[in-house]
Amino acid sequence: MTFDLAQETSKVLTELGVAAERYQGGTLSVTSPVTGAEIGRLKEHSAAEAKAAIDRAHEAFLEWRAVPAPKRGELIRLLGEELRAGKAALGRLVSIEVGKITSEGLGEVQEMIDICDFAVGLSRQLYGLTIATERSEHRMMESWHPLGAIGIISAFNFPVAVWSWNAALAMVCGNSTVWKPSEKTPLTALAVQALFEKALKRYIAEGGTAPANLSTLLIGGRDVGEVLVDHPKIPLVSATGSTAMGRAVGPRLANRFARAVLELGGNNAAIVCPSADLDLTLRGVAFSAMGTAGQRCTSLRRLFVHDSVYDQLVPRLQKAYGSVMIGNPLEAGTLVGPLIDKPAFDKMQSALSAARAEGGKVTGGDRVETDGSADAYYVRPALVEMPSQTGPVVEETFAPILYVIKYSDFDVVLALHNAVPQGLSSSIFTNDIREAETFVSARGSDCGIANINIGPSGAEIGGAFGGEKETGGGRESGSDAWKAYMRRSTNTINYGKTLPLAQGVKFDVE
Ligand code: NAD
Repeated sequence: MTFDLAQETSKVLTELGVAAERYQGGTLSVTSPVTGAEIGRLKEHSAAEAKAAIDRAHEAFLEWRAVPAPKRGELIRLLGEELRAGKAALGRLVSIEVGKITSEGLGEVQEMIDICDFAVGLSRQLYGLTIATERSEHRMMESWHPLGAIGIISAFNFPVAVWSWNAALAMVCGNSTVWKPSEKTPLTALAVQALFEKALKRYIAEGGTAPANLSTLLIGGRDVGEVLVDHPKIPLVSATGSTAMGRAVGPRLANRFARAVLELGGNNAAIVCPSADLDLTLRGVAFSAMGTAGQRCTSLRRLFVHDSVYDQLVPRLQKAYGSVMIGNPLEAGTLVGPLIDKPAFDKMQSALSAARAEGGKVTGGDRVETDGSADAYYVRPALVEMPSQTGPVVEETFAPILYVIKYSDFDVVLALHNAVPQGLSSSIFTNDIREAETFVSARGSDCGIANINIGPSGAEIGGAFGGEKETGGGRESGSDAWKAYMRRSTNTINYGKTLPLAQGVKFDVE
């Protein structure tokens, strides 16, 4: 590829308000998966610097919690405006740093705007209950209070949206935030921090009150993440990434009784039933399995197809896999961009070898050469017809591999669907109301997300997002996920002149 990506990155970062010294001359090298070229070098935080920054974030929380919630919402409204103004540039930076196609890079920023809108409304709706009490002249109620400085650890594949799902809610709830983005995607984090600072400046210029260090960015890898996880002034860490990361982070948080929102790996499936609309299914499967080059936590990885429609659907899918446009994600018409790096490519190839050893018939999966980018890893998405759900099929390989398995009995396929350790997202393609309703019932999909006649990926912000089992159990984004960022206080108020005890207990003293 002929254009200079480092120069392009620098131009976009300047437009977004990031000074050049923030991404030049440091020890953390950032490369773009689009060409494999280096696009920045950032200074990393030492453990001591990270600890001091967290202490300052805690001080910021002590002030911010006293600002009324609707006023906190005004800051997030302004952040939404800055994101709208910076959408094109930030979307392009996401595409450069992660390799997402243009519409997906922009879509990720749109998701940030959407959650800001949601959080602004939420800032006037942090409702508690009033509860009937058994004692006369008493009142019982629930109050929701801010929690503290919230830790956010994010993965490379949603480098900015995950921060906003957490930060927009955390801030209207009265918390400060400390963000440790993926070491593979710190440039987009610098840009988001710059947009936040612009919003903060406007908020203060309009007469708003906000402390310094309300939003803190920590640059570094796992070691910096561990400082956040172990710091006693961080009451909650929302950590998004692999199940291996969650296995390390979860027990450390539990050990100091801190809260965790864990958003970990998925192994998402779809069931295609005899009555499915196959045109719609084809599109739903193609987007969920090949979109983002299979690098979404909700990407479709297992496809169960009823034997009565198998020979109609699978050849059409193979054709789509053979013809989908792969290449530079910044160019119009591309649908599949690159893998993030060489380790991702190697993992994909070893999963395909393991699938072949289990009797899998592989279509695609090979490397696609692009002009002059020896260090970029483009692949043709792989469709693998498997005799059964074994070997790599029960693991998450973060690459575009779709395992296809034939089934004949609905109850058997439902059991197979749930027989993997992960539990993030799922879907069923059917026009049979019994199958559809069973899938979303208590004996249906065991995942945090269960869809009918759409694929498992591409969630909206209005619902709570997250999954069960090895996906970690956390929920963030919409619905009542905000409650994770607050502490609940139950209050009983006696407005009478006597002191009746609950449960009729007598304890009279002179
Ligand atoms: P990763 O686990 O390699 O890294 C994620 C983040 O965790 C990074 O910021 C990393 O520095 C940090 N980290 C790693 N080990 C740590 C430790 N011991 N202590 C503290 N921090 C640590 O994941 P990745 O490769 O960036 O992302 C891909 C994975 O993320 C996939 O498994 C995908 O399914 C998952 N993911 C899940 C969701 C979800 O919402 N469930 C969303 C996006 C991605």
